[in-house]
Amino acid sequence: MSVSSSTRPRRLLPPVPDRALAENVTAAFTDAFDAAPQGVWIAPGRANIIGEHVDYVGGRVVPFALPYATAVAVRIRSDDVVRCTSTGPQQDWIGRAGDVGPGTPSGWAGYAAGVLWAMAYHESIARMPGADIAVTSTVPQGAGLSSSAALECAVALAVAELSGVATDDAGRAVLARDCATAENVVVGAATGLMDQSVSLRARRGHAMVLDCADGTVEHVAVDDVNPDLALMVINTNSPHRLVQGDYGRCRTLVEQACARVDREVLDGATEVDVQDVVDLATLGAHHLRRPLRHVLTEVRRVHAAVGRLRAADLAAVGPLLSASHRSLRDDLGVSSVELDSAVEAALGAGALGARMIGGGFGGSVLALVDAADTATVAEAVLRRAHDDGLPRPRFLAADCAAAARRVY
Ligand code: ADP
Ligand code: MG
Repeated sequence: MSVSSSTRPRRLLPPVPDRALAENVTAAFTDAFDAAPQGVWIAPGRANIIGEHVDYVGGRVVPFALPYATAVAVRIRSDDVVRCTSTGPQQDWIGRAGDVGPGTPSGWAGYAAGVLWAMAYHESIARMPGADIAVTSTVPQGAGLSSSAALECAVALAVAELSGVATDDAGRAVLARDCATAENVVVGAATGLMDQSVSLRARRGHAMVLDCADGTVEHVAVDDVNPDLALMVINTNSPHRLVQGDYGRCRTLVEQACARVDREVLDGATEVDVQDVVDLATLGAHHLRRPLRHVLTEVRRVHAAVGRLRAADLAAVGPLLSASHRSLRDDLGVSSVELDSAVEAALGAGALGARMIGGGFGGSVLALVDAADTATVAEAVLRRAHDDGLPRPRFLAADCAAAARRVY
């Protein structure tokens, strides 16, 4: 699958080659620390085809790595000083290993230094080392494309390789857990394991079916087997605010609702009438009805989507995307006016399916389109945002990219 240059909308944000990212981040490192790094590691952001708000209750999700990524240049230090610098708008942070723990440092350094802490906490490494870390990224921040996981995973892979920790697929599954701990405990954001897993374990050209109950993955070919289709990410430029409560509240409701249902039903392995299960399971707890219905229907959509992807029929996944969006909007209430505007405009312009991705409350939309229609769909989304008085969306290529890697 590709977006050919003739149909590529003018406003598509071009991915930056690894080499160029590595040069940028090496220059940032040298500027900040007056020394050379031990190497440069890159980890991608992600989009999710389907399976939203089911990762943290052990459901299956179908994310893929984006060709937009975060690069880190790293040097492990012999003392316990930790220094972090970013080419983003963030301030440099300097502290000591002992300063890092639950809730500290607040701000962006929690994602970087937090990974070192979490790797030591889980005994992936013997102790938290000092380190100099420079960061640059082409993943937009707060756009629901997981710039946070990209940062964590690049740091984790760097520290693992520099410390002799396994980085095969099993090792990467462990690192994903460490990164999620950094985000949950140090940063304090109650996210699931999907973002870190796909950033570390994805395969180029493939989507990754991740079973969040046991961490197993299956890679399904997407790009080469669907040459006439394109996945398109629409960043609505309305940043989500995951750390600030909405996501956490929603997650709590979903978890409470799922606790009332048998595992086999949640897994979708048993044929049941969703409405019957919802009615029974939420007796006396009316506020859990809609969250539960979202999970149970989303689990079924994932099941159907995986079957269609295995059959190389991406087009047939389109209606499932749109149904997922309606469920996230109506049953879970996590969409936003910007997300709805982009989804409706894309569908109105002929997209085969579209939905919000990520936790919600802003962020990005994933649209499935005929490759020849990408410019038409983009124009329609722009026009609609303009008419609705919303921020100007940006468009990103969504070829399925490779997992985190070392550049040099
Ligand atoms: P998302 O993961 O959807 O982009 P999050 O709110 O989870 O949004 O993570 C965004 C946060 O991650 C930023 O506010 C910042 O603290 C941190 N971050 C991500 N990328 C970078 C970067 N390149 N430099 C510094 N901090 C970053
Ligand atoms: Mg994030």
